[in-house]
Amino acid sequence: MSEDFYEMLGVSHDASEDEIKQAYRDKATEYHPDVSDHDDAEEKFKKIQKAKEVLTDDEKRQLYDRVGHEQFVEAQKRGGAGGAGGAGGAGGRGGMGGMGGMGGIGGIEDLFNEFFGGGGSRARKGDDMVTRIAVDLADAYHGVEREVTVSRPERCDDCGGSGHPPDADERTCPECGGQGQQTTVQQTPLGRVQQTRACRRCEGEGRLYDETCSTCGGDGQVRREATLTVDVPAGIDDGQTLRLEGEGAPGERGAPSGDLLVEVRVKDHPDFDRDGADLHYDLVVSFPQAVFGDSIEVPTVDGSVEFDLPSSTQSGRTFRLEGKGMPKLTRRRRRESYGDLFVHVQVYVPESLNGDQQEALADFAEAGGEEVDPSQGFFDRLKNSL
Ligand SMILES: [Zn+2]
Ligand SMILES: [Zn+2]
Repeated sequence: MSEDFYEMLGVSHDASEDEIKQAYRDKATEYHPDVSDHDDAEEKFKKIQKAKEVLTDDEKRQLYDRVGHEQFVEAQKRGGAGGAGGAGGAGGRGGMGGMGGMGGIGGIEDLFNEFFGGGGSRARKGDDMVTRIAVDLADAYHGVEREVTVSRPERCDDCGGSGHPPDADERTCPECGGQGQQTTVQQTPLGRVQQTRACRRCEGEGRLYDETCSTCGGDGQVRREATLTVDVPAGIDDGQTLRLEGEGAPGERGAPSGDLLVEVRVKDHPDFDRDGADLHYDLVVSFPQAVFGDSIEVPTVDGSVEFDLPSSTQSGRTFRLEGKGMPKLTRRRRRESYGDLFVHVQVYVPESLNGDQQEALADFAEAGGEEVDPSQGFFDRLKNSL
């Protein structure tokens, strides 16, 4: 059984509105998708938003308490999905714009109608749209503003969104008798439930027209290009999604627009491998550097840092440079925090040596009591290539 709205916010069932709002603020800070490092932050955030929306609205809370969590959520889903038919109801009541002032959450009107009677459903919220952008690692490090251009449906100006010319001949829809909706009565465990849906024939308008708008082909919407600025936060990771609220497709008859979801791809960097907020870097050092140690410039995404390679460093050893990785998208922006940069040391074995180097290395081997037969290997190959 899933958490109910009270449990989501961590308040009791008789919590006051102030208590609920306070609890919401605390949770929202924790789970805001821009700043939270919880994996499921976005989903969680949406849930607590919904919980707060319902519990701080007297009527909705009353309804919620009455029908229970599952029934309530189910009705919301039905309302949202059932929107394909366009929950109409603007029929005999002024048509366009008549529903303009309605806010709230999709589908909840249906539930009100089901349990409290009342005619008409709310117009459908606009669809979410998805677009993608790619940023490089430096942009992901510093955060960046990006412009995106999307082609999205907007209200057709020629017909005012109605889908037909203003002077088109009209008649009453025979299917619904001009009501714009059809009512069915269902027997459920909670009693007789009256369900009202938009008329399929007239799509909820109650009227049929003999002409369609030539500009939009009757849809009431045309596609237009819109350029928007996306604020990509520092620390964004590959595959994360930003949400621009209300920048998606417009809703029907004044209902709220959907959101624009921006999927962010962070491009690979030639020098760094990224793992969340941590970065990995392969540092190639020479044999003498590994033996004697050295002070080495190591690149980071934000300039280079001085790294002290200790003497006698074995190839394959890893060093952690704390805080030199990517910024973390933190829950609270009080203090910036960063991941680490892992430096993986590789000792480079030269592919060719000059004469002096050869001699020195042979001496080195001899001094260590090593017997190296150059004719079997490296020196031989070297000679042959000269
Ligand atoms: Zn109809
Ligand atoms: Zn039109």
